[in-house]
Amino acid sequence: MEYNANNVFAKIIRGEIPTDILYEDTYALAFKDINPKAPIHVLVIPKGMFTDYSDLMAHGSTEEIMGFFRAITKVVDKLNLEKNGYRLVFNTGTDSGQEVPHVHAHILAGGKLGIQLG
Ligand code: 5GP
Repeated sequence: MEYNANNVFAKIIRGEIPTDILYEDTYALAFKDINPKAPIHVLVIPKGMFTDYSDLMAHGSTEEIMGFFRAITKVVDKLNLEKNGYRLVFNTGTDSGQEVPHVHAHILAGGKLGIQLG
């Protein structure tokens, strides 16, 4: 799928949609999900233009990929989630129900999470 720069996360990266940024570095941004599915629900996105996880892993540089995954860990540390745990989710492609075509990690935490995976 070709990257569409009009997607909402691209607009957040460009500063076109005011968003409370929880964490930012050269490679990534993190902010709260607008429609949280857990007591803590944060989205982490790389700044590069990748549609989904597969696209990032196929076409991202090692620096971009490592920078993005390190940013996820920084957010986990910042929110002190290590102790009680958390779940990472990457919806990828049509069957997953991915809504926003810019790769994003969901960090879900803050209480016992449901076991439903599908
Ligand atoms: P997906 O289903 O693509 O994996 O998840 C997209 C997520 O982005 C959804 O959980 C949705 O609530 C969230 N979202 C969509 N638009 C916005 C927005 O403008 N701001 C924020 N903070 N989250 C958004």
